[in-house]
Formats: sequence, structure tokens, C-alpha cells
Amino acid sequence: MVKVKGPSGSLIRASLTGLVVVLCLLDKKDYQLMYPLLADAGFFQRLRSLDFELFEKAKAQPCRLCGGPLDTAHFPRKPRGAGEQEDRRFSLCCRRDGCRHRVTPPSLRFMGRKVYSAWVVILVLDFGRELGLERAIARRTLARFRQFWRERLLENNPFMRWARGQLPPGTPGTVLPGALLSSFGFPSLDSWIPVLRFFTHSI
Ligand SMILES: [Zn+2]
Repeated sequence: MVKVKGPSGSLIRASLTGLVVVLCLLDKKDYQLMYPLLADAGFFQRLRSLDFELFEKAKAQPCRLCGGPLDTAHFPRKPRGAGEQEDRRFSLCCRRDGCRHRVTPPSLRFMGRKVYSAWVVILVLDFGRELGLERAIARRTLARFRQFWRERLLENNPFMRWARGQLPPGTPGTVLPGALLSSFGFPSLDSWIPVLRFFTHSI
């Protein structure tokens, strides 16, 4: 089941693993790059259960503002590039009136509030052409992603200060995430979860 609502705007919305439509656009040589995702049919389900673990961990903690208990308060999200199905961003809300502080744990599926799923936001600037994603995503959106990474990868950005402790010493600075992928052994299948954990840290 593949829904294509327009000639280009919906190209990366797909069912199953979220890659079906993209794959229709790819030449055979490009399949190799997508192999890590294709090889594992349960990839997005796995991300979902890892997200749920992060949620349960957050739920076990009290509200950091008032110490009150946190209740489940998921909200609907439909990340583009992770399946056509409606899904939920796992989230919590403080039970106490007057506080109601919202806590949204980190996610391997969502890159903050971006409508595209995290793997798209990470790969599109470096591999957009090879993956057929460039044609599917508005240039304005790509420009925003570029700005987002430029800021996030600045050496004095809190993310990058944390990241320096995770990356091999001497890793050169960069304005695009692709340059850091080799540190994780990308595109091996085993690299995907660490890559997503790394780039979605504290977002
Ligand atoms: Zn509270």
C-alpha cells in the first residue's frame, strides 16, 4: 500500500518500513546505501520499542519542577519517512494542578518537532541525491535542515560539547552530519541505533 498524493511532495511517505516509495525511485546501485534499513523489516518497530523504554524511564521519575507524579500524555505524530501510519510521540505531563509540566523523553524516531523522521534529517543533506530524497523534500525545508545542523555542530553548541566526548579524538569539525557517520561504522546494520542515539541526543 503506497499512497502518492502528488508528483513529488509525498514521495517519501510510505507504508511498511517507510522506504517503499523511496525505493521505487532508486536505481539499483542506490539500494546498497539503504541496505541497513531494508535488511531489517522490524527496524522502525525496534525504534518504537526503544522510544518506549526511554518513556518508561522518564515516567519513573517525579516532575523535576514540583516533584509530583507524571502521567502519560502522548501526542499524535506522523513522521514522514517512518511509515504512513499515525503514531504517537511518547510524552508525560505532571499531574499537579498549577504545574502540569510536560516531559517529552528523547526519541530515536523523531528529531524534535521536525515532521521528517530522524533518519531523514540525518541523511538527507549528505545522501539526499543518492536516496532520491532531494526531489521529495522542499528546498526551503532542506535549507532549514542545513541551518539546523550548522548550529548543532558548532563546537560551542551544547550538543557538540557532549559529542566531543563520544567521538574519536581528532575528529575534524563539520557543518554536516554525514562527516561523523564513519565514526559509528555507518552504513553497517549495527551502526544505525548508535547513529540515531547520537544525533538525537538531548533534542
Ligand atoms: Zn510538576
